[in-house]
Amino acid sequence: MNARPAEKLASNAVVGHFINGRDVADNARTQAITNPATGKVTRQVALASRGTVEQAIAAAAAAFPAWRNTPPAKRARIMFRFKTLLEEHADAIVALLTNEHGKVLDDAMGEFQRGIEVVDYACGIAELLKGEHTKNVGPDIDSWSEFQPLGVVAGITPFNFPAMVPMWMFPMAIACGNTFVLKPSEKDPSAPMFIARLFQQSGLPDGVYNVVNGDKEAVDTLLEDPRVQAISFVGSTPIAEYIYTTGTRNGKRVQALGGAKNHAIVMPDADIDNTVSALMGAAYGSCGERCMAISVAVCVGDETADTIVGRLSKELQNLKVGNGTESCNNMGPLVTKAHHDKVRSYVDLGVEEGAELVVDGRPLRVPGHEEGFFLGACLFDKVTPDMRIYREEIFGPVLCVVRAVSQEHAMQLINEHEYGNGTCIFTRDGEAARYFADNIQVGMVGINVPLPVPVAMHSFGGWKRSLFGDLFAYGPDSVRFYTRRKTITQRWPKGGVRDKAQFSFPSNL
Ligand code: NAD
Repeated sequence: MNARPAEKLASNAVVGHFINGRDVADNARTQAITNPATGKVTRQVALASRGTVEQAIAAAAAAFPAWRNTPPAKRARIMFRFKTLLEEHADAIVALLTNEHGKVLDDAMGEFQRGIEVVDYACGIAELLKGEHTKNVGPDIDSWSEFQPLGVVAGITPFNFPAMVPMWMFPMAIACGNTFVLKPSEKDPSAPMFIARLFQQSGLPDGVYNVVNGDKEAVDTLLEDPRVQAISFVGSTPIAEYIYTTGTRNGKRVQALGGAKNHAIVMPDADIDNTVSALMGAAYGSCGERCMAISVAVCVGDETADTIVGRLSKELQNLKVGNGTESCNNMGPLVTKAHHDKVRSYVDLGVEEGAELVVDGRPLRVPGHEEGFFLGACLFDKVTPDMRIYREEIFGPVLCVVRAVSQEHAMQLINEHEYGNGTCIFTRDGEAARYFADNIQVGMVGINVPLPVPVAMHSFGGWKRSLFGDLFAYGPDSVRFYTRRKTITQRWPKGGVRDKAQFSFPSNL
């Protein structure tokens, strides 16, 4: 059983769709999938028509009544089997991630493990769905609240975490009793398809989890279909805003997580060795293609800035860039040629805008991978808030150093930025750290922790234009997002008691 999905996937020249427990072709329109390290097209992805997406929604709608009534403990047993299968197939899934995204294998394994964490959390669904009960809210009257699933829920996900971000959504949505349609990124769809087949093998009934590959046509169908009750989206801010406004206008519950520009404040008293290591990993890990990547280092004081820039420049000489499949490498290529060219043009722009390009990754060539989408690490100093390289999300291996005169000044920069996903402070001063955590206008905050990505029993989300909606992803917020509260008040009058009509509002007075 275990080898089946990998064999099946490898033999597929076109990645299709997974609907009602079966592979569905619909490949009238396709798009190339490229291995970013070689620049070669490896397979095609089918772009679903409106009709195919409607077929997936219909399958999910048909599966809902029985799944909704499946005891949570039974749903949890399927989750346990799913987790075991995921762990058994980790190497195959991680290889798919590296081949289509480009990230190095260790990093891909990290992403995958963080996805499995959410499946772990979903295994506790019976406990998480326990309602609230009060006896005797009035004479012989009891009241309770329960959390009912919504129905068909959709997820739309970005290219940068092809396994983890879908797993932020569907395990909890399905554990809560919903059925699900996922529309993964068309750039790297193979891992989510593989994972869908494993979920099916775990004993999930047909139609509970469906995957459609596609582009705007598929997304718009999900946004418009009245059978879809809620949408979870993760991606860039303009699309997140579009999903939120369109989805809510169509009466759906929507959470849409968007882009980021995450700042790290480096205080003069920071442990410099640890700060430099942390910045290296957080800025250049996964080639900067993380929504929690640190893309701005705000150094308090010129002396701090000079030290950090000097140390980072030195470290960057030893950064190993190459094919993510080779374990010696720290950083792989960017995901596509188009994205490579966009990131590179931001480096050109930074030079034009007058920032000081201290380390220039543009000339980098990776021998044997001349057609790959590689860009070396770039470091800008003396970046100012009016520059586009500061204001806009670059999503590549580009770290901007901004010089601030005080902690207050550094925090003001962060608070005035349009994004508010993640941030951190490097300091040895507890008072400064506490003040920062309390007053910074950002959803996820690190104190000497560069990537404060919440673990599965907390919830993930940003503030400002990094999140449209009210509830974060996974963790306790996901139970609220994927369920609807119902409060029931019940009275069984004692035999023989006759009620008189009451015209005053019921109360205990
Ligand atoms: P993207 O917005 O281009 O695509 C995300 C999804 O939206 C994909 O499935 C894509 O097919 C779909 N899409 C794209 N254009 C569309 C359109 N015009 N209409 C309807 N659907 C459309 O994002 P991406 O480039 O795949 O991912 C990178 C972005 O995601 C970055 O901005 C990054 O910060 C963000 N991101 C945010 C988080 C977070 O938690 N806040 C996490 C990961 C990534």
